Amino acid sequence: MTEEMPVVIECPSCGERYLIWPAMSELPQGTTYYSDGYFTSDNKWRTPEIIGCVTCELGFTPQNGKIIATPNREEFLQHWSHLKPAQPPTTGALVLELRARKNMDTTMEKVLRKELWYSTSHTTAGKNLLENNAKFKNFWNDSMVQLEALLDRNNPAELLLKAEADRQLGHYEQCLELLLGEQSNMAEAIRNAAQRENCTLLVIAEKK
Ligand SMILES: [Zn+2]
Repeated sequence: MTEEMPVVIECPSCGERYLIWPAMSELPQGTTYYSDGYFTSDNKWRTPEIIGCVTCELGFTPQNGKIIATPNREEFLQHWSHLKPAQPPTTGALVLELRARKNMDTTMEKVLRKELWYSTSHTTAGKNLLENNAKFKNFWNDSMVQLEALLDRNNPAELLLKAEADRQLGHYEQCLELLLGEQSNMAEAIRNAAQRENCTLLVIAEKK
C-alpha cells in the first residue's frame, strides 16, 4: 500500500502554493473529533473549505485551486515539504469576505459562515475576538443564526451541524427536535449536552 501524501495546490490569483490532503477515507490515529464536525490530528490537517492566501490575501476554494503535483513520498520530501499547509482565512478576513460578498451564492455563504464559526472555536485569535469584542460577538451571533437557517435538516451531512449550531446558540429545544431519532455517537453527545443546557464545544472522541 502506498502512503498517502499531501497534494500541492496553487492559488488561482497569485500562484502561491500550499499543501492539502486529498479526500481522507479514514483519519489516522491521534485524531480528535469535535461536536461541530471539526477535527485535529497529529499528522494530517483538515482542508478548509476556503483557503486564505497569505500572499494575495484572497480566499479560494480547493475546487478553484489548481492541483499542480500529487507527489509520492520521495518526490514530496525532495520538492514540496517546505510548503505551508493550506489554512482558512483569518477571522477578520472572513468577516470582510462576508461583508463584501453581497450577492454570494448559498454554497459560498455556508462555507464562509462555517469557517467563521470554526475560527472562533479552534483558533486563539478568533476565540479572543469573540470573548473581548462585543461588536464582533453580535456579528458572530447573527452569522450563526443565518448559518443555522442555511443548513438543511433533510441533508444527512448537514443535520448534525445544524443541531450543533442550535445548541451553541442556546436553542436547546430546536436542537433536541432536530436530533429525534438520530443515534450516532455524535448525535448522542450533542443531545446529552443540550438536555443539560450546555452550549460549549464538546470533544466527541479521541482515536488513539
Ligand atoms: Zn494568492
